[in-house]
Amino acid sequence: MPAEIKGLNEECGVFAIFGHEKAAEITFYGLHALQHRGQQGAGIVTSDGEQLHIHKGTGLVNAIFDQEHLQETLKGSSAIGHVRYATEEERGFENVQPLLFRSQTSSMALAYNGEIVNDFALRTQLEAQGSILQTTSDIEVIAHLIKRGGYLSLEEAIKQALGMVKGAYAFVLLTEDQLFIALDPYGIRPLSLGHIDGSYVIASETCAFDLVGAEFIREVKPGELIVIDKQGLKSSMFASPMQRSLCSMEYVYFARPDSDLNGLNVHASRKIMGKQLAKEATVEADVVTGVPDSSISAAIGFAEESGIPYELGLIKNRYIGRTFIEPTQSSREQGVKMKLSPVRGIVNGKRVVMVDDSIVRGTTSRRIVRLLKEAGATEVHVRIAAPPIKNPCFYGVDTSVTGELIAAQYSIEEIAEEIGADSLAFLSVEGLEKSLVHEDSLDMGICKACFTGRYPTEIYPNAANTNNKQ
Ligand code: SF4
Repeated sequence: MPAEIKGLNEECGVFAIFGHEKAAEITFYGLHALQHRGQQGAGIVTSDGEQLHIHKGTGLVNAIFDQEHLQETLKGSSAIGHVRYATEEERGFENVQPLLFRSQTSSMALAYNGEIVNDFALRTQLEAQGSILQTTSDIEVIAHLIKRGGYLSLEEAIKQALGMVKGAYAFVLLTEDQLFIALDPYGIRPLSLGHIDGSYVIASETCAFDLVGAEFIREVKPGELIVIDKQGLKSSMFASPMQRSLCSMEYVYFARPDSDLNGLNVHASRKIMGKQLAKEATVEADVVTGVPDSSISAAIGFAEESGIPYELGLIKNRYIGRTFIEPTQSSREQGVKMKLSPVRGIVNGKRVVMVDDSIVRGTTSRRIVRLLKEAGATEVHVRIAAPPIKNPCFYGVDTSVTGELIAAQYSIEEIAEEIGADSLAFLSVEGLEKSLVHEDSLDMGICKACFTGRYPTEIYPNAANTNNKQ
């Protein structure tokens, strides 16, 4: 079996608002709603119309900001904010976003969710031309590219810079008097536009709108640049939109169940995936249980379709973070033990279908199967509500490299044996597509590259090694 590797980690989340007297406070709550997308750092930059103000730190949103920061430091009526997941090697204050660049004429703060696949080439080019980069963050590369277009209007300079950047990005940029928002031409990462009290808001997920009391207007379009200022909102395209390739792992694992992505509610989508999985790989059993939290919806769908009752066979300790928060192996192993408990009274003497959303390394699945068997389950049939992850992600999700992905190395039977399951089945790629792409989607198209190896964008040399998740 492969060496222990990193799990499947969150990406990042962005939030922005323009023209609201409580901009900092609303952004704080917005970031709080997006906390599941990144727990290793957060920041807010505000504008009071003349100056930008910043506060950021490492750790959770609640621990970084207090009343003084929100009411005294972060002055102004416009703001951008970011929550960040970071690999172990890139944790560090200097990479926490937003990044703020001050200049005599105008300052700008930038934040994004995604990953630039030609980052290495762009860095090399910038350094050859004399730029000195202080962080390993892709967003600094974008900032330098924008500054290179200083002879243009800022809007044109952003368009020119984004034209050079390849990959996945949901991008926000704040100056003293303008807010810019852009989504990559394939729309790989989610980004939505809403409004509250007559002010525009932007968020990676619509659950942030619900928390702050904002209303959803629409998704940001692939290849779209939105400029918001006192005159209102202006939309234009900086690139021809390509076939939408929204990350399917957002539906499978990352996004909150109460978010809607591309017109589809995440909980409802997971239920459909669970139903489809039951159609494809049903099994004789007494109870269905889901691995909390992200697999509960799929388990309910599986139970509904199969007719096997859904039961709470595993409970989560609420006072522990998500399984894969800590990228180190020892903390992860301890984390699984501390996080989940089997409900003995439910699983004892029963044949259990355990629905989960993914198997990356196999370690977590093995531990959960063991927990259920130790609690008396006579059989544990593992059903995964997504296809096997066989390929790395280059678009901001830390799935590590191919050689470390268990499904890239071993057959389904071998994986079942490794995790101690009595049987194992995954949702088919066709089943995933069928579950997520239908008439209700605003436009068709999901990225399935970590399952199929067919990437929507060109993948550049060194993209696999930069491992620069934002
Ligand atoms: S490769 Fe996988 S994780 Fe990465 S964007 Fe595509 S679907 Fe999402």
